[in-house]
Amino acid sequence: ATRGMPAGLDSSKLQIQTNSKPSSPKANNELVFGQSFTDHMLTVEWTEKDGWAAPKIQPYGNLSLDPSSAVFHYGFELFEGLKAYRTLDNKITMFRPDMNMARLNKSAARICLPTVDGEEVIKLMGKLIEQDKHLVPEGQGYALYLRPTMIGTTAALGVSSPDKALLFVIASPVGPYYKTGFKAVKLEATDYATRAWPGGCGDKKLGANYAPCVLPQKQAAERGYQQNLWLFGPEKYITEVGTMNVFFVFKDAKTGKKELVTAPLDGTILEGVTRDSILSLARERLNPEEWTVSERYYSIHEVEQKAANGELVEAFGAGTAAVVSPIKEIGWNGKDINVPLQPGKQAGALTEDVASWIADIQYGRVKRGNWSREV
Ligand code: PMP
Repeated sequence: ATRGMPAGLDSSKLQIQTNSKPSSPKANNELVFGQSFTDHMLTVEWTEKDGWAAPKIQPYGNLSLDPSSAVFHYGFELFEGLKAYRTLDNKITMFRPDMNMARLNKSAARICLPTVDGEEVIKLMGKLIEQDKHLVPEGQGYALYLRPTMIGTTAALGVSSPDKALLFVIASPVGPYYKTGFKAVKLEATDYATRAWPGGCGDKKLGANYAPCVLPQKQAAERGYQQNLWLFGPEKYITEVGTMNVFFVFKDAKTGKKELVTAPLDGTILEGVTRDSILSLARERLNPEEWTVSERYYSIHEVEQKAANGELVEAFGAGTAAVVSPIKEIGWNGKDINVPLQPGKQAGALTEDVASWIADIQYGRVKRGNWSREV
């Protein structure tokens, strides 16, 4: 870097300290989401004065932080989640990591943490994966989950823009969300707690958005529902489900035309990479004479009405962890709205199609432009 100028994040300065006790891969059936981690982690320190220091790959282990660090007091924390897949031809590819980097930068900007050159972080994540490539599992539904995280580390209690930060990436070998195929879930339409609101930060991936959503999830679970269907406002608009975006399929009783619908990106919805992928593929692949693909406001009242008319066809959540998660029932106003499923089926036809469209690209059976980034 030029003297006096803060340095940009530079992957060519990478320093690698290898783990002297490499672990052996677990059997696929022992992989539990986010419970075990690879042998190495990536860390990059930042200061306002000097910018980004040399990135380090080092043995996975504890961080040492001053207890007055900004992250512990005021929630200066953001994270990302993406996966690397072992493809049919035995390459390792990250799925749309540029989307995660763009979102990371939006989150960072919102809480006064430094932004990064996303391409440099993608290269560094590639090096991290390379280092532990023997731990990237093989097989449909298996992947290496990557968790980029950034925290404010300024050691002082004043509430202000952090002048020190740490970016780190850890990696966890993971298995399929549903070990034995799809399992449709029951949701509780939730208007007694609000996940996000206009002018808030629900469209950013900040840790602060997640902790307050665990209590309503436990409350829904006590009543027999796995997840919250987050409603917003007096109109009771449907926004997201748990930590996923949500899609509904309606079929007009008169015309027979079908609609795939999800909420618009109005600042209250996380801009899911899976959501974006599904919308792109649906717009390309569904016959426009039979289908409309909509990003629009729709409410639990509309869903209830359509269910009563026989016009509710399918519903599913969409996110990196499960890719798609079919929905079978929604508790609302003391009643259950049923999403029809064929006998013996856990997912509707479009839900199944969407899941295989995406898996085909992730595992390299279908090539698609720059969606798969080889390590
Ligand atoms: N909404 C929320 C609140 C989430 O936490 C996630 C998971 N990142 C998603 C939606 C889905 O996003 P993606 O498809 O990028 O995983």
